[in-house]
Amino acid sequence: MKANIESFEWLTKNTFFMKVKPEERVDFKAGQFMMIKAGGNEKPFSIASFPGEETIDFLISVHPDGTVTPKLAKMKKGDALEIGGPYGVFTVRDTTAKEIVFVAAGTGIAPFRSMIMDALQRFPKKKIKLMFGFRENFYFEKYWRELEHSYGNFKLCLCCSAPKGGWTGRAGRVTACLEEEIKDAKDKEVYVCGPPQMVQDTRETLEKRLGFGHEKIHVEKW
Ligand SMILES: Cc1cc2nc3c(=O)[nH]c(=O)nc-3n(C[C@H](O)[C@H](O)[C@H](O)COP(=O)(O)OP(=O)(O)OC[C@H]3O[C@@H](n4cnc5c(N)ncnc54)[C@H](O)[C@@H]3O)c2cc1C
Repeated sequence: MKANIESFEWLTKNTFFMKVKPEERVDFKAGQFMMIKAGGNEKPFSIASFPGEETIDFLISVHPDGTVTPKLAKMKKGDALEIGGPYGVFTVRDTTAKEIVFVAAGTGIAPFRSMIMDALQRFPKKKIKLMFGFRENFYFEKYWRELEHSYGNFKLCLCCSAPKGGWTGRAGRVTACLEEEIKDAKDKEVYVCGPPQMVQDTRETLEKRLGFGHEKIHVEKW
């Protein structure tokens, strides 16, 4: 289906945030992705907005020698795109766990923007935590700070791998903070999203060092 770009904003020198308005209604679940076409190819991109919002939003990092993202990077407000979907099963499941931890690095935070809102609305009594690893930019900072302010059961844990002066959060990769922040597997379930190596390292730590069963870890890697 066709979709028009409503806004296009660069957040870092190679990552942009784009809001698109599809010509047809798209019913999706928080955490799903859409296929976006450019120059005859298409790639999956997680939806960073919440179901029912006016636009479908994407947080996209550009691979300079990639097939799709350099073409998307040339687009601007008012341009039309071809999108397909929604697809995917990376959604927040019903659970008896008392705490749900979301672990992301870089643009892997995109699906968590809507999954965490979904979890907060569905599970007001569970602890919900976002562990986010980034280098330069804490994407959607205002949004997360407001959630932390509005929901007493939501906590942020930020890990900056290239901290500059004044940084008071954790320094280092998000995978290095897991043991200290999560401590053990009891009554917890984890969602992980990010580059393949980060997802693999996170899974290894959760399973081998913290005792998580395979079924308590849900991943999306790209
Ligand atoms: C479910 C899902 C959701 C996703 N959501 C997002 C999202 O929200 N935001 C986001 O930014 N990305 C997301 N991705 C990743 C996205 O789909 C693309 O894979 C990514 O943007 C690269 O696309 P590209 O066509 O520009 O680059 P590609 O053409 O795929 O190339 C990417 C890089 O890999 C290298 N490369 C390609 N093929 C090879 C090869 N055979 N051997 C070695 N190197 C190779 C290229 O040189 C380039 O540097 C998601 C992926 C999945 C699976």
